[in-house]
Amino acid sequence: MEDQALNNHFCYICGGALGFLFMAKDYISSETFSLYQCPVCSLAEIKPSPKLADFAKYYPKLYYGKRKSFTDSLINNGRRRKIKKIAASFKNNADKKSLLDVGCGDGGFISLLAADGWQVAGTEMASLGSHSKPALVNICRQELIDCGFNEAGFDIITMWHSLEHLAEPLSYLKEAGRILKKQGMLLVEVPNFNSWQSVIFKDNWFHLDVPRHIFHYDKKSLALILEKADFKIVKVSYNSLIYGLFGLIQSCLNVFCQRKNLLFDWLNGKVGLADIKAGSVGAGDFIITFILAIPASIFSLLIFALEVIFKRGGVITVWARRE
Ligand SMILES: [Zn+2]
Repeated sequence: MEDQALNNHFCYICGGALGFLFMAKDYISSETFSLYQCPVCSLAEIKPSPKLADFAKYYPKLYYGKRKSFTDSLINNGRRRKIKKIAASFKNNADKKSLLDVGCGDGGFISLLAADGWQVAGTEMASLGSHSKPALVNICRQELIDCGFNEAGFDIITMWHSLEHLAEPLSYLKEAGRILKKQGMLLVEVPNFNSWQSVIFKDNWFHLDVPRHIFHYDKKSLALILEKADFKIVKVSYNSLIYGLFGLIQSCLNVFCQRKNLLFDWLNGKVGLADIKAGSVGAGDFIITFILAIPASIFSLLIFALEVIFKRGGVITVWARRE
C-alpha cells in the first residue's frame, strides 16, 4: 500500500500521472504488485517493476512447463496461416520472404516457416528449461538491440505475446523499425487490457500474470507506442481463439480456487497429483477445477464470441506498417 500512497508514477508512453487500479499477487513468487493506469493513453503498468536480478525467481525453469505438443502445433499453425495471408497481400510477392520472431520461445513457429522455405530468425532471452526441444533454427539469445541484425533486412517481424514482458518496449519497437524493410509489416499480439475478461476478473485475470507482464496495452496505447516508433496500425483483430478462450476459462476458475492458474499449470505438466501429496497444491482446488472446467468452458465460449463481436477480446493482434 506504500506504493499506492506515493502515487508519483508517470506513464511510460505519454508522461501522464498514473492512477492506482488494484493489487495483484504473483502465483509463483507470492509477492504482491500494484497496477496503475494512465488516464490519458490507457497504458497500464505494474509497480514495482521487476528487477533483472530477480528474473530467476519470476521465471523459474518450471514456468515454461511441458507444453502439450498438440496445443503448440495448433498455435504455431494458426500463426503460420496469419503470416501467409498477410504475405500474400504484399505488392512485391516474391516467394522467399524473411521473418524475425521476437521472443520466439523454442522456435517452433519459425521452424514451420523455415520448412516452407522462408528465411527466418528468432530472439529469445529466457532459458526455456529442460523440457524444451532443441531449436531447428538460429536463435539470438540477447536483447533485440544487441543482436546486430542488418538494417532493412526483414519483410515481417512478429512479437507474439512478448511486448508485455518488456521493460523497454519502445527501444524494441524502434529497433524493429530499423531492421524492417520499407513497407515491411510488424505484428504485435498482446493481452488486451480493455477486454471484458480483464475488466471483469481484474486480479484473477489469467493474462494479468504479474510481474512477468510489466505493461498492459489496449488498442489506444498500442497505437500510441507504435506511432512513437514510426509505425501505423493497418489492421486490428481480437479473435485469438486459444489465448482468448483459455484466458476466460482459467480466469473463471481463478475466482473459485486459492491456487491460481491450476488448470493451465496442470495442462502444461507443471503440477500433478504428487503436488497434492507434497502439500504444495490443495486437493480442494483440483476438485473444483475438474468439476467446473466444463461449465466454465461453455460459459467462456459464449463470452468469447461476444468479446470478439464487440471488439473487447482478451487478446489484441495488430498489424503495423513502417511510416
Ligand atoms: Zn499515457
